[in-house]
Amino acid sequence: MAKPSQPSEVARETLRRLAMNKTPPTPDNYRAIYHEITGSKIVEPFPERSLKTLQSALPRDTQEQVRFARQFETAIASGNWDSFGSALIDLVAKPGAEPLAWSALIRELVQQLDTHHAGLTAAKKKETVEHVLSASSSPELLYSRLQSALRSWSHTPVSDGAEMVSAATSESSPAAPLAAAGHGSDSAAATGGRDQTAWRGGIGELQNLIAQLLDNTLSIVLAESPELARESTEIAAAVRAARNADELGGLTDRLKKLSYRAHYVAEDQAELKTALLHLVHLIIENISELVVDDQWLAGQISVVRELVNEPLNLRRLDDVERRMKDVIVKQSSLKKSLNEAKDRLKAMLATFVDRLADFSETTSGYHDKIEKCAERISQANDIADLSDVLDEVMHETRIVQINAARSRDELSAMRGRVNEAEREVTRLQNELAHASELVRHDALTGALNRKGMDEALESEVSRLRRQRGSLSLALLDIDNFKKLNDSLGHAVGDAALVHLSKVTHEAIRPQDTLARYGGEEFVVLLPNTPLEDAVSAMVRVQRELTRRFFLHNNDKVLITFSCGVAELRSDETPYDALKRADEAMYLAKRAGKNRVVPA
Ligand code: GH3
Ligand code: MG
Ligand code: MG
Repeated sequence: MAKPSQPSEVARETLRRLAMNKTPPTPDNYRAIYHEITGSKIVEPFPERSLKTLQSALPRDTQEQVRFARQFETAIASGNWDSFGSALIDLVAKPGAEPLAWSALIRELVQQLDTHHAGLTAAKKKETVEHVLSASSSPELLYSRLQSALRSWSHTPVSDGAEMVSAATSESSPAAPLAAAGHGSDSAAATGGRDQTAWRGGIGELQNLIAQLLDNTLSIVLAESPELARESTEIAAAVRAARNADELGGLTDRLKKLSYRAHYVAEDQAELKTALLHLVHLIIENISELVVDDQWLAGQISVVRELVNEPLNLRRLDDVERRMKDVIVKQSSLKKSLNEAKDRLKAMLATFVDRLADFSETTSGYHDKIEKCAERISQANDIADLSDVLDEVMHETRIVQINAARSRDELSAMRGRVNEAEREVTRLQNELAHASELVRHDALTGALNRKGMDEALESEVSRLRRQRGSLSLALLDIDNFKKLNDSLGHAVGDAALVHLSKVTHEAIRPQDTLARYGGEEFVVLLPNTPLEDAVSAMVRVQRELTRRFFLHNNDKVLITFSCGVAELRSDETPYDALKRADEAMYLAKRAGKNRVVPA
């Protein structure tokens, strides 16, 4: 019988044979007989849908997994078992595809940490582990780096004596960090050959030193600038992880930036130290002047205590040094006046005693004379004798009277002067006690006074010239203050000034400075604040004043102010800027008050 060639004939013949052989008509049996008739090879159908489901469930956590998933996808798309097979074989051949034997690795790690390796301290090993832990971004990387470290430890002799050769080889782990790898390790497999070996041998040590410098030294120097300290630690980790000159070179920019910023921090710290030393010298030099009376020391001690209680910064140190100088000058001059006043008092008392002695001398002379006169009277023989004696008595009595009157006047004048001197001594003593408070600060509000403001401006401007940045000045003037004074009285006006300066002081930042410029005008210095931010800061103060009312007899009194703000330009003095702020403040008044206007 001729071989059927048409598919319909093949189908009919297939069914015939199924029936003849009593074979169950399953698709598989049908397919087998069909191919037997045509003599063709059985081709298994490609299970595309099932494979796609499988592919979508594949993990893609590591680069390796993602690569495999893509290969898998391409194989499905081509409908080709061969490429699918090679993707699978590829995956199985990769070490990453094996499950990571964590328990064995950890067991070995614990064991090796306890083993004494020649020249390898436990601390060094821990440091390596810590570093590997912090620098490995995936479990696979962590596993392979830990494995490298362990391999290297196990190659290090267990007995004492041998020099430490290396920490970890990185044959199978080109990504192993140099810190973990140490120097002198061989890793020709990855980046190849002598260059890599030379690189590790020569630069590795330097690399380690740089990392150590960044990690152990610079991060401590920068402790007060956490952001820089963190950057330093991060660069250290990157330096350790660099595997070749290119990778290390890639860190140059970051390192440069860090060094630039660290330079400023170091400069600031040096200045801080100098200022601190100045302060200490000032105290020591003056302490002998001040120990005369405990009370006179109180001012200085409280200033130093205040300083120690706050975090140290240059601005505060400057401020405190100037305050101390002022206090010392003021106290010395007060002390001089006080001593002079006391001396005057003593001199007056001495004069008083002298006068008293003179007086009693005069009166005792008078008594002698009167006694002698009495004797002459009893022995007198005639009237003429008596008349002489009486003349003498009259004369002596008049002298005594004159002396007595003069002494009385002198004594009462002296009593007046003594009282005055006593009052002066008391006043000076009180002033001395308050000297610390009065010098650079306004006595009513506690804000800086004009002199204090001048000094603060000077130091802000010199800081600005040194460090660049910005400085804004705000000048504020209370609205309708005369009316408040007239209606509620001057004392209430004073209390309102105190309220305003308290609220303002609390609403501005610690580095900002409040000064009383005059009557009801205040100036705020805002360092490192561009114009726009300074305006917002002053608007914030205004808002705060509308929230925290000034209370008079439990009545709420709203205090508002008009304000002009200027940012210091490089070509002007702070007083030029204040003038511009004043003009802007005037515009704020003209525009209806209670507003902030930038100059
Ligand atoms: P404007 O809104 O235009 O600023 O009007 P004003 O009334 O606030 O301004 P003016 O300059 O006319 O008046 C300021 C008043 O401030 C006059 C003065 O008596 C008062 N003053 C100045 N210093 C003090 C002080 O220390 N205590 C008190 N209670 N008042 C003061
Ligand atoms: Mg005014
Ligand atoms: Mg005013």
